[in-house]
Amino acid sequence: MCGIVGYLGNSVAQDALIDGLRRLEYRGYDSAGAAFHDGNAFSLARETGRVENLASTLRESNPTSTLGIAHTRWATHGAVTVSNTHPHLSHDGKIALVHNGVIENYGPLKRILEGKGIEFSSETDSEVLSNLIAYHYARLEGEEEQFAQALREALSQCRGAYGIAVLCVDEPGFLLGARRGSPLVVGLGDGETFLASDASAFVGRVRDAVYLKDGEIALLREDGFRIITMQGEDAQAVSQPIDQTVEDVEMGDFDSFMEKEIFEQPVALENTLRGRFGDDGTTAKLGGLEGHEDELRRLNRIVFVACGTARHSCMVGEYLIERLARVPVEVEHASEFRYRNSPKAGHTLVIAVSQSGETLDTLEAVREARTKGLLTIGITNGVGSSLARETDGGVYQRVGAEIGVASTKAFTSQVALCAMLGLALGRMRELSPIQGREIAEALQNLPENVASILQRGETLRELAHKYSEAEHLLFLGRQDLYPVALEGALKLKEISYAHAEGYPAAELKHGPIALINPECPSIFLVEEGELGAKTIANMQEVKARSGPVLAIVPEGVEVPDGAADDVFRVPAVHEVVRPIVATIPLQLFAYHFARIRSLDVDKPRNLAKSVTVE
Ligand code: GLU
Repeated sequence: MCGIVGYLGNSVAQDALIDGLRRLEYRGYDSAGAAFHDGNAFSLARETGRVENLASTLRESNPTSTLGIAHTRWATHGAVTVSNTHPHLSHDGKIALVHNGVIENYGPLKRILEGKGIEFSSETDSEVLSNLIAYHYARLEGEEEQFAQALREALSQCRGAYGIAVLCVDEPGFLLGARRGSPLVVGLGDGETFLASDASAFVGRVRDAVYLKDGEIALLREDGFRIITMQGEDAQAVSQPIDQTVEDVEMGDFDSFMEKEIFEQPVALENTLRGRFGDDGTTAKLGGLEGHEDELRRLNRIVFVACGTARHSCMVGEYLIERLARVPVEVEHASEFRYRNSPKAGHTLVIAVSQSGETLDTLEAVREARTKGLLTIGITNGVGSSLARETDGGVYQRVGAEIGVASTKAFTSQVALCAMLGLALGRMRELSPIQGREIAEALQNLPENVASILQRGETLRELAHKYSEAEHLLFLGRQDLYPVALEGALKLKEISYAHAEGYPAAELKHGPIALINPECPSIFLVEEGELGAKTIANMQEVKARSGPVLAIVPEGVEVPDGAADDVFRVPAVHEVVRPIVATIPLQLFAYHFARIRSLDVDKPRNLAKSVTVE
């Protein structure tokens, strides 16, 4: 959470910093601030609320410095106030710092510094780090590389997670960055260098980037840069071209990033699937799993670890993989798995799923699994992310930047990859070539099926309008449509603040049916066949109790008169892609439901996209 940007170059820093913060705002939007090196001192601008508030303040003060750092905050320690807003200056004005993460031992460190007469002006953990660096900087007076050394000393005393950008008033051509747990990337431009939480901050100005590893420090100067370790030794700096484009990170003609990303799904899914089928068209070929074939054949258990929406994709994966590959699958909240004493049974594969690849709980779950000697695979959209680096193998989603806080295209691509994985593992076991080909073809037709639903977006807007007064909604589905129901409910509550719950449809009568009344609509996801008929019977139970029903139903499935108030038809597809097809109407329903309430769907209250704190 929170986005940081640093700029050192030959242009005015404020433009680069504000553009960068706007693109990182999905990471946090409680307050925003910037510090500029003015030759002898720092000038500071900090505002609560959105980046736009800071931008308008800077338009008035118009700082011309070419060196600065900036931050958009998602508060963890201390209320949303100007004094808690980053950057944080040290008590002596020597150090300016922006921080993403949590310094866990900030309490004892603060007391030590207070004992030395240092006064604090915020409640944040971050200000402690700024003062700790200043303390060591003063202590190391006269030493070589005084600033970098002070930073190393300070960081060696900190526990917790950080991605930081730091300036020193005595070093006008020097910008330092460091990371542990929170992401940080160096952007190498023409006569300018950036530090940022993610590369979208400088896309368009910079072609190559160096993704810092945990425990690395970046020393940026006007004439070049170095990466060192916490011990002060040189580390290898591998620069790679940035895979994002300006179109990826700008909204274009859409009203919001969320809407843009919903409509990008046919292309996003095509990119996820492209080149990933075997030459005979009967299996999936995932490059990141190559070299692990023997272990994958031996597998007798899969554990998914993920959080939020990514976890719902894993729950769909559980149904798909068990069905296709006949391997027992469990899905764990990453935050629980990391602290559990779960038994190490047989040949277990741990699959971690995170859009950003920086979700702290998921990373810690992977670290725990690796400590126990388990094979780990990552599914992520974050190229070069911690998850990509820290797993034994992995698969990139390739859907381009996802900026809307409520995940849409990343979710459907994660589900598609779970299906691909099920297909690949299935073909190593029991699945016949004919079954394999059917599944591969169903996946390849998916972009078209999704596009056909998006074309009927207007109908979903009308349906959302009809139900938009509701404050409580139920989402119900069976089997692989149950996690889709959970995801539909999550989407709606995240962006509209209406209360929504997802349940297996048959579970309705074991409790939630008590909530049914004319003000509580139920949204049913209906499947084909026998179970679909049972779901329709559940709809009738709701109607019998005056509950409004909206049903998402495949073409060809008959809905008896009176069983639903509204029916939205989706293409009849192979069961492996059914959960993705059923997701699209729920995304559009949630989107319009929130827009009708005039809410900012890209920046829902209290949320941030990439959760890099525990
Ligand atoms: N812990 C810091 C604060 O509360 C930074 C939080 C963040 O990563 O946004 O200000």
